[in-house]
Amino acid sequence: MIRAYKFLMRPTVGQAQALAEMLQDHCSLYNGALQERRDAYRHVSRTTVRYGDQSAQLKEIRAFDPERQGRWSFSSQQATLRRLDKAFAAFFRRIKSGDTPGYPRFRGLNWFDTVEFPKDGDGCRWNSTPHDPVTRVRFQGVGHVRVNQHRVVVGKIKTVSVKREGRKWFVVLIAERERPEPLPVTGSVVGIDLGIANFLADSGGEFVPNPRHGRNAAAKLEAAQRALTRFPRICRGKRTRNHERAVEKVSKLHGKIRRQRLDHAHKTALWLVRSHDFIAHEDLKIRNMVRTPAPKPDPDQLGLFLPNGAAAKAGLNKSINDAGWGVFLTILTNKAESAGREVIAVDPRNTSRACPECGHIAKENRPTQETFHCVACGHMAHADTVGAINVLRAGLARRNANRA
Ligand SMILES: [Zn+2]
Repeated sequence: MIRAYKFLMRPTVGQAQALAEMLQDHCSLYNGALQERRDAYRHVSRTTVRYGDQSAQLKEIRAFDPERQGRWSFSSQQATLRRLDKAFAAFFRRIKSGDTPGYPRFRGLNWFDTVEFPKDGDGCRWNSTPHDPVTRVRFQGVGHVRVNQHRVVVGKIKTVSVKREGRKWFVVLIAERERPEPLPVTGSVVGIDLGIANFLADSGGEFVPNPRHGRNAAAKLEAAQRALTRFPRICRGKRTRNHERAVEKVSKLHGKIRRQRLDHAHKTALWLVRSHDFIAHEDLKIRNMVRTPAPKPDPDQLGLFLPNGAAAKAGLNKSINDAGWGVFLTILTNKAESAGREVIAVDPRNTSRACPECGHIAKENRPTQETFHCVACGHMAHADTVGAINVLRAGLARRNANRA
């Protein structure tokens, strides 16, 4: 099983400077190698330069420019050239399949934000000071950088990457470990309904509220984005100090929301996977298709439509919610897989209007957002709990059909 870990680094001022130079020099290497491939293709009788040729030149490039290229890890430079090679492979694949793709482009520092080390111990060393209580990671040409290691790394580390996001530096580890022991069987099954008022409701009547900070952060992000629209859309370097600050603020808030959402999703998924053997949820792709409000024709004016609330639903809050659900379901599926649990996505049509007691399906069964009241048998319950029960039933039916 492959797992990624991402930790914030706390470089000193000098180390941050070196990291920035490392990124910049790898970016120049990428662009230089791209230039060479372009020139060869255009002028030298359409020859193609390959990764092997460029990798073989690395030694010369390093000797020619010892101040810059010479001080970084040979392996991370090879990884950068391989990255370019992948861009070309994709380019030629698309040409072959009849597309007209753009030629691989030169990359500015805004785009080029990662340097990969293909092997721990080669140009980099995770946990380079094992006797020190503070975790550090060493990079050739940079030194031992402090790391905020907020979780234990399990398994053998395959690759180590440096990543810049805004003004922050991260180290990303890819670790591989043996398939873990599955969790003990609980004999319990559950259906979940993802919502706005509550993050989720389960078929057993439990609710996981939406994190309060989510709404708070969304309001702040909206204000920051509005502030940003006052500035012209120009690239980094040409912006004024205030413009730069506004851009940073938006990117910082995005990062904060992402981290909070991840944390909440991990906790919620862990709780579900520990308590149940089988988890059914709505298929979000189908849900997004069917939950878009239907157009309302205006009876007075032929061909015109009345407002149907779609614009209101399409706000920032909604997009954050949608993204949050997607992230959560991915995490849930991964955790379930490593714990030996089963997760099934079901078609969500009618899950909110079918009565779990008598099976009667009607829009009128749901007089308000929160209440379910069956017009046929009078069954009453929280609407989200009813949704979750119906999701569970549909999931179990699908599981039985799959097994048959
Ligand atoms: Zn009923």
